[in-house]
Amino acid sequence: MRPLSYSRVHSVDDAIAAVATDPAGAFLAGGTTEIDLIRLGVIRPDALVDINDLPLADLEELPGGGLRIGALARMSAVARDPRIVQRFPAVARALVLGASEQLRNMASMGGNLCQRTRCAYFRDGISPCNKRDPGTGCAAMDGANRGHAILGTSDSCIATHPSDVAVPLVAFDAIVHTAGPNGTRRIPIDDFYVPPGSTPDVEHPLDHGELIVAIELPPAPIAASSTYVKHRDRQSYEFALVSVCTAIEVGNGTVTDVRLALGGVGTTPWRARAAEAALRGAPATPESFDAAARAELAPAVTRTGNAFKVEFARRAMVRALADATGSQPDGGAL
Ligand SMILES: Cc1cc2nc3c(=O)[nH]c(=O)nc-3n(C[C@H](O)[C@H](O)[C@H](O)COP(=O)(O)OP(=O)(O)OC[C@H]3O[C@@H](n4cnc5c(N)ncnc54)[C@H](O)[C@@H]3O)c2cc1C
Ligand code: SF4
Repeated sequence: MRPLSYSRVHSVDDAIAAVATDPAGAFLAGGTTEIDLIRLGVIRPDALVDINDLPLADLEELPGGGLRIGALARMSAVARDPRIVQRFPAVARALVLGASEQLRNMASMGGNLCQRTRCAYFRDGISPCNKRDPGTGCAAMDGANRGHAILGTSDSCIATHPSDVAVPLVAFDAIVHTAGPNGTRRIPIDDFYVPPGSTPDVEHPLDHGELIVAIELPPAPIAASSTYVKHRDRQSYEFALVSVCTAIEVGNGTVTDVRLALGGVGTTPWRARAAEAALRGAPATPESFDAAARAELAPAVTRTGNAFKVEFARRAMVRALADATGSQPDGGAL
């Protein structure tokens, strides 16, 4: 039996102070990740600081059509908000395709960004796992790695980041706003997710006691026609094997702008920058989509179980781009 204290705070300053002054303290939002991992013995905080009374649940307008999503806004509320549905439909879709309605009613946006990997070896609490217990090894390298990452991996860890909504957030250059013991910060989402390298236990640049207060979606007119497609082993209540967020603009048959991001294949929510670069200025054809997907996936590093993801992700990208532009890939591209 290990003692675990619980307190409920009513101001951001109190929340930061309560966690920052206790090396084993942790924030508690919806609890849908945190409580699971405590029960499994994967994490061992000694004090949970409940932040649900903080005034961080609103969605606010920003100049030019951007939105600021409070860190405690629930996934279900954000998915239903008409401004999200109209301006960032891929964000709404990614939220709706995650977890279950009951979980989405509990789960917060800040907690979603901070959720831990679903790697079974991480979650069993006993297998060698560099992310859970640095220096112990990685049971997934030669184990059951069908769901694991093929991009951004290292010799230390090949776990995917499981968030769906983080995929469109990286596509649209979201900014994570924080408040912590050293003041406030605006962290571009590209910098928020840290690839595993030799320290897979370090997943984001937050200081201990640093609280996410909001997620900013800058104005992005291209996002209004965005889509999010999630491929998984069953139709609901399952994490992505491969997911694709697509937003594309075409003029006179040429790609004028594009945003592309992938879930289920990267150690971080994966902005497909090589594919975007290949597509800009290219003809909006299945052949271009295929070439762009191949460029993105060229650096993939596979293991026995997850090698299929290279072809799966290629097809998923081609299909998503073809659907978004109304073109018909032939058998060769698919
Ligand atoms: C069965 C199941 C299925 C799921 N399926 C999916 C899925 O398909 N797609 C998907 O994307 N997700 C899925 N999830 C994950 C779910 O979306 C996350 O558990 C949830 O979003 C976490 O939010 P929370 O508020 O419950 O966070 P908590 O569990 O309260 O916290 C999670 C972590 O974030 C930290 N934290 C919370 N809020 C803040 C903050 N404001 N600032 C700093 N740190 C903070 C906590 O300290 C903790 O470390 C699933 C979860 C379950 C249990
Ligand atoms: S893939 Fe990462 S999380 Fe999974 S066992 Fe290896 S080190 Fe741990």
